[in-house]
Amino acid sequence: MLPYGRQDITQADIDAVIEVLQSDFLTQGPVVPLFEEAIAKKVGARHAVATNSATSALHLACLALGLGPGDRLWTSTISFVASANCGLYCGANVDFVDIDPQTYNLCPDALARKLETAKLSGQLPKIVVAVHLCGQPCDMAAIHRLSIQYGFAIIEDASHAIGGRYRGRPIGSCDFSDITIFSFHPVKIITTAEGGMAVTNSKALHNTMELLRSHGITRDPTQMTHEPHGPWYYQQIALGFNYRMTELQGALGLSQLERLDQYVERRHDLAERYDRLLSDLPVTRPWQSPDSYSARHLYVIRVQQEIADRNHVFASMRAQQIGVNLHYIPIHTQPYYTPLGFKEGDFPNAEQYYREAISLPLFGTMTETQQDIVITALADSIKGCG
Ligand SMILES: *Cc1c(COP(=O)(O)O)cnc(C)c1O
Repeated sequence: MLPYGRQDITQADIDAVIEVLQSDFLTQGPVVPLFEEAIAKKVGARHAVATNSATSALHLACLALGLGPGDRLWTSTISFVASANCGLYCGANVDFVDIDPQTYNLCPDALARKLETAKLSGQLPKIVVAVHLCGQPCDMAAIHRLSIQYGFAIIEDASHAIGGRYRGRPIGSCDFSDITIFSFHPVKIITTAEGGMAVTNSKALHNTMELLRSHGITRDPTQMTHEPHGPWYYQQIALGFNYRMTELQGALGLSQLERLDQYVERRHDLAERYDRLLSDLPVTRPWQSPDSYSARHLYVIRVQQEIADRNHVFASMRAQQIGVNLHYIPIHTQPYYTPLGFKEGDFPNAEQYYREAISLPLFGTMTETQQDIVITALADSIKGCG
């Protein structure tokens, strides 16, 4: 089966990990701080906190922004469940915003309408999580304007988007947000096996996330309630977690980061080749905003019901060993979420998208021969299912 995404591990990656295995530190050593520094520099942020997953990074980000019981977090319903779960971890209420039918990202107009209503009932969100679906940045300028008007914080869930740019600036520079999150899961742009990162320009947010990443324990005397008892001394001053990244992961990430631009460029070449070679097929190709340079994590096509049955096209592709996938099931329709007050019909653009979407294989080491096989299989599948 040709996967929809897969990692690329070079000999340099392997050597970097082996070097750490033979060193003094497997965790809490010098490599993770180097990886944090390198990511911060690459994406143009002042501070970075490496974590054991993007899910953990989202949780830390919400806590650092003060999210708690009685607060509200809003995000796009077309995302991975982690974009919403972070709100529930903090005891907050989670609600969703419908997608823009062109970009499939959180729709700023829908957000504006929802905010207007929420203001009247005193139910404004504390945090909006803007998910850069497929690697294409959200309309951050519009969301940022609304954040000033209504007073909410912004987390960018850029799990798909490292290496991309918005209005010429790297995603992660946090020009329009408080914190940006990246994922290094193997299907994402670069990998540390499991792993994530939160970046921010705020020293205070950085310090809180760093503290909570490691049990809420500090060794900094200025943060303690009294003089240290001795050189062994630390204090727990908050309830934190063990969300640390290992040195092995840090080394792998540092090594992968050297190829980030190359991977994103390759993804662009392949995506543009898909655009050309699919132009004769009756499918909707992904629209790209002129404000964005997407990281091109996913190539999502839409098959309209009148043209062909999407489920049949999907099954036919899988039968031909093409590992197509679907990103994502609207979160508000998940059985864990519906009892929280959601039902089908709540977010019509998202639900329509879900009925039509297929993610075609796309990854940094995909060959044109593999891509041609996908395109032929898709053409056959649509013909057979029309
Ligand atoms: C992958 C992903 C996550 C979670 O990342 P992990 O590193 O697996 O925790 C969160 N949000 C989005 C949009 C993702 O694609």
